[in-house]
Amino acid sequence: MDLMGVRINTIVKDNVAIRCDGCNEIIAGTPWRLNVLDIVASEVPVAWTEQPAINPGPFQFHSDPGHARTWMARRGYLFCRKGEVREIMRPVPIPGDAVRWGLCDGIHRDDHAFVPA
Ligand SMILES: [Zn+2]
Ligand SMILES: [Zn+2]
Repeated sequence: MDLMGVRINTIVKDNVAIRCDGCNEIIAGTPWRLNVLDIVASEVPVAWTEQPAINPGPFQFHSDPGHARTWMARRGYLFCRKGEVREIMRPVPIPGDAVRWGLCDGIHRDDHAFVPA
């Protein structure tokens, strides 16, 4: 651009490549970000030492929700099929022998329907 006779070259390219947490490839352009909310209340009383810590993110992906699902599957998260992959996901503890987490966008009002991501 040219501003009052002074030439300004706008640098738009990030010098740090952002990689997708799903497929590990470099993301060209703006990454799509996903945050996992803090757990507010747990219905399953488990000693915190036994509980795998949830990294709240943000995680960065290509804009295709399939890449976020790949990431969930790799981490062993379940995905609530009544919701969608959104920027903010709520972790829901799933009772069982081992503590598992389901991720839901928390928008629907009825029971979750968790499936492997
Ligand atoms: Zn990707
Ligand atoms: Zn749900």
